[in-house]
Amino acid sequence: MRKRSWPNRKNRKCPTCRKMLTYSRKDAFDRAVGNNSVCKSCAHMDRKFTLETLEKMKKPKTQEHRQKISLAHYKNSYNIFMQKSNQNYDFDEYVRLKKLGRL
Ligand SMILES: [Zn+2]
Repeated sequence: MRKRSWPNRKNRKCPTCRKMLTYSRKDAFDRAVGNNSVCKSCAHMDRKFTLETLEKMKKPKTQEHRQKISLAHYKNSYNIFMQKSNQNYDFDEYVRLKKLGRL
């Protein structure tokens, strides 16, 4: 019986970057297939990406959130203003003047 073609089976592609990975041992190969593990550089990138993303996303998200809240606030006061006032500002103009303290 012919030997199983193990030499051709110890390569697998990294599921993330599609780089061909070579395994010197069958058990390491089998474990990597079982875990669907990525290559070393992808594993490293993943961790780095996660940390950087967390740091970068923290502030802009908060700012965006605040901006939405303040816009909702302006929208309410704009509606009230427009009901009471005979001035005809559009919303952007109203927010601009409000921020400048002109209203
Ligand atoms: Zn990879």
